[in-house]
Amino acid sequence: MSMGQEKLNLLGLARQELEDFFVSIGEKPFRASQVLKWIHQFGVAGFDAMTNISKVLRMRLQELAEIRAPRILLQQHSRDGTRKWLLQVDGGNSVEMVFIPEKERGTLCVSSQVGCALDCTFCSTARQGFNRNLGAPEIIGQLWLANQALGRDPRGERIISNVVLMGMGEPLLNFDNVVAAMDLMMDDLAYGLSKRRVTISTAGVVPALKRLKPVCEASLAVSLHAPDDALRDKLVPLNRKYPIALLLDACCEYIAGESKRVVTFEYVMLKNINDSAEQARKLARLLGNVPSKVNLIPFNPFPESRYQCSSQEEIEHFASILQERGIVTITRRTRGGDIDAACGQLVGRVQDRTRRSSIAIKEAC
Ligand code: SAH
Repeated sequence: MSMGQEKLNLLGLARQELEDFFVSIGEKPFRASQVLKWIHQFGVAGFDAMTNISKVLRMRLQELAEIRAPRILLQQHSRDGTRKWLLQVDGGNSVEMVFIPEKERGTLCVSSQVGCALDCTFCSTARQGFNRNLGAPEIIGQLWLANQALGRDPRGERIISNVVLMGMGEPLLNFDNVVAAMDLMMDDLAYGLSKRRVTISTAGVVPALKRLKPVCEASLAVSLHAPDDALRDKLVPLNRKYPIALLLDACCEYIAGESKRVVTFEYVMLKNINDSAEQARKLARLLGNVPSKVNLIPFNPFPESRYQCSSQEEIEHFASILQERGIVTITRRTRGGDIDAACGQLVGRVQDRTRRSSIAIKEAC
């Protein structure tokens, strides 16, 4: 490779891509397994540490390639144990990732884009506009960094047991990079997380959801937020392109053939907007034929947000109507609110916000 040419960042290559790389430089494909383990299981950032690889090859790798994660700009700790990191991904852009500890698991919430091109009216990331997709190394690099920061428990198990693609951005509008990163999350030679423990969340990019099934086994969450198109058109403008009926069909297709799988529907609780008893009954009817569970998310306010969160009683009443109709319903506890790490509060720093919705969505679909 000539001077000045960019080195290949091995951090974002899934097993097959890494094998292809080794073959392309005249090496045996099994080198990929060794390097995957070094990078993702042991968390090394330099080729020198890869002691089962010959010195000659290590020097060659040094010339051709690198292992480069985003840079941590800032870390914040919430009173409830939630942690948030601000990560620099290039000169002007940064994204956020959040770690949420719970009794039985530790969940890392990962970003997939710098900003977001969708314009959901209740989401703070939307205000940031959109700058660009994150590359695969920038997505898996979040898990790589967080594992380094958090380490393992006394039994040797990793503290991070679950990953959700619920940070900044719409993962299905960054398809290839997100699939490569999820591949690594679930690869036994890398992070080895089961498909139940990796969740991709989407506002409903139907064509991309259809493409996902053959290439990815991750669990699916869908940001629904309304029981009918008229309201959803307003809250999640993407609905005008892919209305609820199409979205639910695609959800059923995604889990078809796997008897125990369900889709998680996220539903942000907005006072006097989508939280009435009538809307709960409508939602239950809508989901009647979809193997599903519902996650009610108390609305997290942000500066200049025009909504209020439903009251505790309203949320409980809404949940009880769904439960009476046989729908497993969980109310998500707000975590990390004191450091703006809760759902919909991630903002990072987004440079040049001009590449808004229509262009970015057209490019991706
Ligand atoms: N674009 C993807 C991934 C983002 S996930 C998606 O829409 O699913 C972030 C989740 O938090 C989504 O369910 C989103 O709708 C929800 N959310 C956004 N803003 C929120 C807010 N202010 N309060 C609570 N939840 C919010």
